[in-house]
Amino acid sequence: MTTPRYNRILLKLSGEVLMGENGLAIDPAVTARVAGEIADVKAQGYELCIVVGGGNIFRGLAAAAKGFERATADHMGMLATVMNALAVQNALEQIGVSTRVQSAISMDKICEPVIRRRAERHLEKGRVVIFAAGVGEPYFTTDSGAALRAAEMKCDALFKGTSVDGVYDADPKIVPTATRYDTVSYDTVLAKNLKVMDASAISLCRDNDIPIVVFNIREHGNFAAVLSGEGVSTTVQKEQ
Ligand code: UDP
Repeated sequence: MTTPRYNRILLKLSGEVLMGENGLAIDPAVTARVAGEIADVKAQGYELCIVVGGGNIFRGLAAAAKGFERATADHMGMLATVMNALAVQNALEQIGVSTRVQSAISMDKICEPVIRRRAERHLEKGRVVIFAAGVGEPYFTTDSGAALRAAEMKCDALFKGTSVDGVYDADPKIVPTATRYDTVSYDTVLAKNLKVMDASAISLCRDNDIPIVVFNIREHGNFAAVLSGEGVSTTVQKEQ
């Protein structure tokens, strides 16, 4: 499959990709490995925005199901994404990649607020911009945050780095014959309720014609390979 050349990409990292086998929510070695994959891609000249999730630390919806008030739980979830953003920033800077964190919830002692023009300037200067706190409001997820930032930063594609290698027509853990799509349309994802990103994120990408590339970021070299059209991934895009 040939992948079009993307120049500016938004990488969505699920919080779980920072977790290790040892149960640590943020495993320094795992985070360093992920940072290495990002640095390799950055070195190839791509402009990179990153949105980090928080599910490795706290998920508002799960906490609400156990009795937490939803908005409070979501605020906690958003704070978790800021911790992850700082962890990714730290790991990237340790290997010489210049970064800035911008949070949708103001935290001026530790990072910048989200200011689009400032983020543009960071990209021009070759910095990686890490966006934290999703869209900054409860009842959303960082998938929606990723779609929103991809649209406002005019990214050519949204790369969703997870621990699975793409989108399947059924859950491969339950259905042994499940097959992975190379490409699939936004409408099929929505109609079949395929587990890619939440529906509001998918529709925002569809309405702004932003392809979503789902790939396994834990596999060494895969991020760079997928960008050059070689690795294993699924692209969610317009009906061809
Ligand atoms: N969250 C929120 N608004 C946002 C983004 C995130 O309220 O715009 C909260 C929500 O509780 C969510 C948590 O932050 O469960 C962590 O984000 P998410 O579940 O998207 O992380 P991921 O699954 O990508 O690790």
